[in-house]
Formats: sequence, C-alpha cells, structure tokens
Amino acid sequence: MDGALDTDVIVVGAGPVGLTLTGELRTGGVRTVTLERLTAPTTESRASILHARTMALLAERGVLDRLGPLPGGGSGHFGGIRLDLAAATSGHPFAGQWECPQTRVEAVLQEWVTDLGAEVRRGHAVTGLTRHTDWVEVDVRVPGGRPCRLRAAYLVGCDGERSTVRRLAGYDLAGVDATRQMLRADVTGVDIPDRRLQRLPNGVVTAYRRADGTTRLMVRRHGRHPRAGAGVPDFAEVVTAWAEVTGEDIGHGVPRWLNRFDDTSRQVSRYRLGRILLAGDAAHVQMPIGGQALNLGLQDAINLGGKLTARVTGGAGDEVLDSYHDDRHPVGTRVLTNIRAQALLLFGGPETDALRDTVAELMGIDAVRSHLARMISGLDIQETTPVSDVRTGSGTPAPGDRTNRSASTDRSSTMDRLNGKTALVTGSSRGIGRATAQRLAREGALVAVHYAANEDAALETVTSIESDGGWAFPVRAELGVPGDVHNLFLALEEGLKERTGDTTLDIVVNNAAETAPAGVPPEDITPEQFDRYFAVNARAPFFIVQRASSLLPQGGRIINISSGLTRCANPDQAVYAMTKGAIEQISLHFARHLAPRGITVNTVAPGITDNGSAVFGMPEVVEQMARLSAFNRVGDAGDVADVVTFLATDEARWITGAFIDASGGTLLGQ
Ligand code: NAP
Repeated sequence: MDGALDTDVIVVGAGPVGLTLTGELRTGGVRTVTLERLTAPTTESRASILHARTMALLAERGVLDRLGPLPGGGSGHFGGIRLDLAAATSGHPFAGQWECPQTRVEAVLQEWVTDLGAEVRRGHAVTGLTRHTDWVEVDVRVPGGRPCRLRAAYLVGCDGERSTVRRLAGYDLAGVDATRQMLRADVTGVDIPDRRLQRLPNGVVTAYRRADGTTRLMVRRHGRHPRAGAGVPDFAEVVTAWAEVTGEDIGHGVPRWLNRFDDTSRQVSRYRLGRILLAGDAAHVQMPIGGQALNLGLQDAINLGGKLTARVTGGAGDEVLDSYHDDRHPVGTRVLTNIRAQALLLFGGPETDALRDTVAELMGIDAVRSHLARMISGLDIQETTPVSDVRTGSGTPAPGDRTNRSASTDRSSTMDRLNGKTALVTGSSRGIGRATAQRLAREGALVAVHYAANEDAALETVTSIESDGGWAFPVRAELGVPGDVHNLFLALEEGLKERTGDTTLDIVVNNAAETAPAGVPPEDITPEQFDRYFAVNARAPFFIVQRASSLLPQGGRIINISSGLTRCANPDQAVYAMTKGAIEQISLHFARHLAPRGITVNTVAPGITDNGSAVFGMPEVVEQMARLSAFNRVGDAGDVADVVTFLATDEARWITGAFIDASGGTLLGQ
C-alpha cells in the first residue's frame, strides 16, 4: 500500500507544534506534508516564554543556536506569587525562563524544517477525512485551486484549540468550561506604568511596554463571567475594563491586536485514535499561564516525533504510539491542574485572599519552591519511553562499532524505582559515571554529577539528564588533594539543600578513579604516582563513605566501582589494581558496619568498558580487547551502569558486601 501513499505523515498546522513535529519526523527520515490553513505565518505573538526543559530539547536539536542568545524572561510566578524559577532550578543549564516571541520561534522552526527538506503547504485547509485500515485520507481546500485529496499512513492534528482534525476525527474534549476571562491587547500611543499581575479591588491587570513602543495590556474584572461565543473584543470593551480596574483612560491609544482568553480546561481522553493523533492545544485547551501551553505543546511534538519515526521507519509496533499517550496525557493533565490552581490564585477575587496568603507562606519553603519550579519548567517529567530510546536501532553490534553499541544498551525503560531519592556519582562527567548518573536519574533520582576538571563534560551530563526529563546538578571537587572530601560534601550538601530542603543522600556511587590506560611497569612506578593512585582511588572513597554515612537514611546504598583487574594479573596495572583491592575492602567492612541501619554496600567490577576515550574508536584495538569478554565485545558504559542502578533499587535490598563481576565474562578466562 505504501506506494500509493502521498506521504508517511500529514501534519495539520504549521504553528510551533506542527513545525516541531515536522522537524522531528524529517530528522528521522520520515516523509511529511504539513498543511496550514493560513496563507502566511501569524504576526500575533501569543506566547513568549520558553522553559528549561524545552530549551534543553531545542538545544539538542540545534534549534536554540538558530534562535540566538535569548534574554531571560524575568523571575516567574506561581498564581501571581513571585517564584524565582532561575534560583529554584539552579544547576540546570537553562535554569529560569527565557523570552522569545512565538513569531520568532515559528520563523526559526520554519527555517529548520525547510533545511530538512520539509514541504509546508500554506493556505491549505483540511475539510474532511476518511479512515482506512492502512491509511488516512484527507480532503484539502486550496485557495484559488481545485480541492485535493492526500493519503498518508498517519495524520497528526497540531491545529490548535479549535482543531479541525479533532472535530473531524470525533475526539471528545472533556473538562470544564470557562468561569473567568481576561482581555488582552497590544496598544501603541499610551503611557501607563508597567505592572505585573497587579491585584486591585476591582480586578487584576498587567501592562508592559516593549522595546518597539507597544504596550501589552491584560485586564480581568472580578465578578465578570465569560460570555459564551464572545469573539474578539473591540477596543472599547478593553478601554472600559481598564478604566474600571485602574481608573486610567487608554481610549486615545491605537489597538494593534485584541484578544480574549479564559480558563477553559479541557483535554481529549486519548491522544491517539488509530492512525490519527493530536498534539499541542489540539489535545488540550488551557489558560495560557506562564507560557506553559506552548512548552507543553512543543514537548508533545518532540515526544511524538521520536515515536512516529520509530513506528514508520524503525519497525516499532503500535505500542510505541500508545506510549505517546501514556507519556503525554498525564503530563497534560498535570499542567492543566496547576494552571487551574494558578488561575484561581491569580484571578480569584477577595474570597481567595486567605488561600493566596497560605500558598505564599508555603512558597517561603525551599522545597516547595523547588517543587513548583520544576513542575512549571517541565523538569520533573518522566517519559516512560525516552525519545532517545525509541529513536535508536537494535541488534548486536560488531566489536568496535561505537554508534550502535549504546543503541542496544540504552533501552532500559523508566520504572521510577528511585523516585524521591538522591544520589552522588563521583566522576560522572564521563564514561561509566555519566551512564550511571543518567540511569539513576531516569529512575527518578536527583543526581549530583561530580567531576574534577572537565566542567563542559559535567554540564553535558546534566543537560542530557534534564532533557530526558530527569533532575541533576553538577558538583566540582578534585579528589586526592587535601580537603578533597570536605569540599565535595560542602558543595553537595548545598546543592541538595537548595533542591530538596535537606541533605539526605540515599545513594553513593564511588566511581571516580585515577586510571592508567596504558599502564606503568611496576619497576617504573614512583612513590608520588603510587600515593596519587591511593589518594584518589582508595583514600577518597573511604572518607566519602565515612562522611556520607551520616547523611544516608535507612535503606541507603553505597556502590564502589572496582575492576576485573583485582581477579587477574596485569603487572603494568599493579598499583591501580592494588587501589581497587582496597576499595573492595571498603565494601566488605562497611557492609557489616552499616547493615544495622539497612544500608547495603557492594562492589561492581567492570571489565574493559568503552568510556569514550580515543582507543575505543580504533577498530583493530577494540577487536583485540573484545576477545577478552565471553561475549566478544567490549563493555558499554550502560552495561555497567545498569548493574549499579539495580543495586541502588529496593530490589537489591538483600545483597550486601558482594563483589559483582560486570565484565561480560572476562574473568571466565579464555
Ligand atoms: P573515565 O571515563 O576516565 O572518567 C573518570 C571520571 O572520574 C571523570 O568524571 C573524572 O572527572 C573523574 N576523576 C578522575 N580523577 C579525578 C579526581 N582526582 N578527582 C575527582 N574526579 C576525578 O572513567 P571510566 O573509564 O568510566 O571509569 C569509571 C570507573 O570504572 C573507575 O573507577 C575505573 O577504575 C573503573 N573501571 C573502568 C574500566 C574501563 O575499562 N573503563 C574498567 C574497569 C574499571 P573529569 O572529567 O573532571 O576529569
């Protein structure tokens, strides 16, 4: 049938959501046709805020570079109560909120999809659709031309809150009708003070003057109920409302754009009906508070893009499309809920004052601010099938094949086994430590990404975690120097406190180590080298365990990373192996010592594991190394990280003091 299709996916709507989906699909090699009712991009900038998770996702796709440097979008708020998003999400590379008019986002996305060879047909309105077993057919009205029909394997409605696709496909849209409305206008020629969500006896107002001299106004009058079917307000209505609430006359101004919005809160109950899917405002209708609607829609598109690509080009089954609903429907519900709560706080009259005071008091608590900020910034989102997973292929990689290897090993799905836990992974800027930090975060843990010098790599680890919906922050401290562990814990405790309100540390992974890939013959080792190895690989982990033990709660976990080299001889690695022998002793003795508190302490011993260093890019060397493993390949950082993650979960509660060989059978011998 595919030969008779006009394209793989028809995307309806070339706003930010439709264009983002188009870009994702094109990146994955999917054929697309994007249909847009409007003949030219809109000049209205309804939304202008990008949140941290969206920024990270756009950065990953190179779209952020195209947008250029963005100004910060101010502190943020929850229901009109100041919430400094940057402070409450500090540690995230895009902490805070960022300002970018929707028109600019759209222009850049259009440029991106054009470069990807996408076909965006403007002035093309969908007027009908027919479902078939293997395809969907849409009727399209073309201005000045003959109507046409298009066939595709899938159809996605990204056509906004009045979605035609939603209506034609027979989706429900359950929820509650509006009880409050706001008038919004862009006006020139007025000179009134800027104010942000100012509460006055008769209502709430916002005004801010843009660089181009236009003032954006928003006004809500208490006690006024939205009129059903009320269209675009006329300027006189805005002038009257403004005067009633502020006492100011803006009647001499020139309106450039007028609009009304309300607190309607509705969501379709399934994001997918067979071959037809919805994303963005087509799937959920909400009040645009704090830019969340745009961010929610962009993230819908990115999630769906990866999954549709996997379905169309990667041989994934329909369940991958259902996982789009499973991921994004609850996220949508949650955002709609927080928006309704905020609308109540923001636009409620005097009857909500007591509630506002109580919420404001709660927001004085670090942990509450952090919780709300992560929710608004999208940093607490856990997607069950991470996009990176569904986009990768599978199969057994050849030795030395670095591109495929992580594809086969990055597949563990989130089960939220570590929700609410905190973890320190030493040396997690790169290699095994990075993979471990990523997996612990994917399971829901807040991860401190420790490093010594390589700040860029550490920030990359944090970004990758955040863009996967996890939570992490970097901690810098060189180990093996005086004051090392003290400095590490000062930064760690500060980071934890800021984010969780206390210093509880549930999981410690002693991973950082001084390694000597090429080795040093025993006769050449100097006392200084010997001391350095022991200081970093044995002394620091011991004192980390000692210091952490006061922060570890009942059920805490310590995992020490050793090496298969403690079980087979390699004279050039003698001193390194001695330090690894020492770390195994830490596990043994502390396992006994901490057992009364329900804390487990174990050792994981990797074999040769691709940590991203240059040698793993040399096929002939990798082939030689691969022969040491019973599986004839070198390990992937994820192979080891999965074992460590398992030990961190409750499922491993009965294992302590154990030496776990994670060397792919290297120790079995030839
Ligand atoms: P890697 O890629 O070399 O990364 C080492 C990490 O440790 C980096 O994050 C580094 O931070 C940090 N680090 C190094 N020296 C440090 C110091 N003095 N203070 C603080 N941090 C320091 O490591 P890997 O190969 O993934 O190895 C991870 C663990 O597995 C190590 O314990 C290693 O002994 C063990 N292991 C590895 C293999 C293998 O084949 N890869 C085999 C057996 C055992 P910066 O980025 O800031 O430098």
